[in-house]
Amino acid sequence: MSNVRDTTTGEESPITPRDRRVSFQRGIDFEVPYSRENINRCRCPQCPVQADSKCVKGKLDSSKKAMEDLPEGEVPDPEDVPGIYCSEGEATCQDLNPERQCICNTCDVWKEYLLENGTPSQYFCQNGRAT
Ligand code: SF4
Ligand code: SF4
Repeated sequence: MSNVRDTTTGEESPITPRDRRVSFQRGIDFEVPYSRENINRCRCPQCPVQADSKCVKGKLDSSKKAMEDLPEGEVPDPEDVPGIYCSEGEATCQDLNPERQCICNTCDVWKEYLLENGTPSQYFCQNGRAT
């Protein structure tokens, strides 16, 4: 007797990711676009890990201004934006406090790109971009 399930019914057909690359070596590649929309949705500016960082405060002020001044759709240099680390990798500011709680799991970008399944899945400012 075999208890292998019949997969010809289509019931267990795999879900095809909508807009992500699939690599057979590493599974799903969680590429988060560095876009104005995602910068605006990023919760890092509200995160306790960054709350006391003077470096982040300075970058937040200047990147906010840059976003206002830039033509629609254009984005500031990622090094000047203290967030969206899931897309761009580790923070350049060195005075963050990773002892505090990461709030990526409250972020719509995190939810849309299923980053809970990525490596790393949080603390992208410390651990680098989501892959
Ligand atoms: S998942 Fe985290 S790093 Fe990525 S946009 Fe959201 S809050 Fe920022
Ligand atoms: S990646 Fe996570 S821990 Fe780092 S600043 Fe953003 S929300 Fe906070």
